[in-house]
Parts: sequence; structure tokens; C-alpha cells
Amino acid sequence: MNCGLCGSGITAQEKFKTLKSNGLTVRYVYYGCTRGKDLHCKNPNMREEELVKQLIALIGEMDMDEKIVRKKFNEEYQRVRKFQKSFLGTGKIDSHEQSFNSKIYTTHILTKGTTEEKRELLGSLKNKLILRDKKISLQNN
Ligand SMILES: [Zn+2]
Repeated sequence: MNCGLCGSGITAQEKFKTLKSNGLTVRYVYYGCTRGKDLHCKNPNMREEELVKQLIALIGEMDMDEKIVRKKFNEEYQRVRKFQKSFLGTGKIDSHEQSFNSKIYTTHILTKGTTEEKRELLGSLKNKLILRDKKISLQNN
């Protein structure tokens, strides 16, 4: 992912905020320009939730490496199968090959996956992601 203003990289930053109302600490993740190319870049930071929302809206236009996405899907499927065998008995094995859809799986990872899983999956993206003024756009290589 690159900054749409100066072309530097985009990095994630963790911030903690203590709420005045109840003293609880909340964790926020922001994405922003590393300012490697322009120390005074004015590109604003963006909340992770907003970033994910925009990525999901862009899934239809994303050009992903199907092989990598499918591999991830199969790994997760095997993990669930092992869990089922251990705790719920064997049961029937349904044909997951037919139910695989990379766009649906990508949406699942973006909404329910860990940060690590999201990062890995976005690594299979062939487009470049550009962040500018809190808007993400796709760029074809
Ligand atoms: Zn920048």
C-alpha cells in the first residue's frame, strides 16, 4: 500500500486511548504515510475499521492470486476438519472444493480474520493499493 500524495509506504500504528467516562483503555489501529519520501506529507491517517470497509467494497475489482487464496482457504478448512474430528466425531465430509469462492473468502478474512491473516491475504493482491485523503483506490500494475 502506498501514499497517494508522496508515494511513500503506508504503515499501521497502534494507539491506546483511555476513556474518561469509565477509565477503560481502547485500542485503535491507524494507517498512515511513513513520510519516507516527504517529511511533511499531509495525507491524513485512517482508522483500520474504515480501511477494511473500503477494501470489502473494492473486492469485486481486486485482482488476486487465486492459488494463494485457495491455499489459505484449504489450510483453514483442514484446521476446522481436525477440530471437528477431535471434538465432534467424524461426521460427513462435504465437498468444500465446490463451495470455494475467493471473493467471499476474502470478505470473511477481512471481517473476521486476524491482522496477520489480513496482511497475508492482501499479499496475494496483484493490484497496488493507494491511500489518499482517507480513500483507498486500486492501481493496476
Ligand atoms: Zn505521503
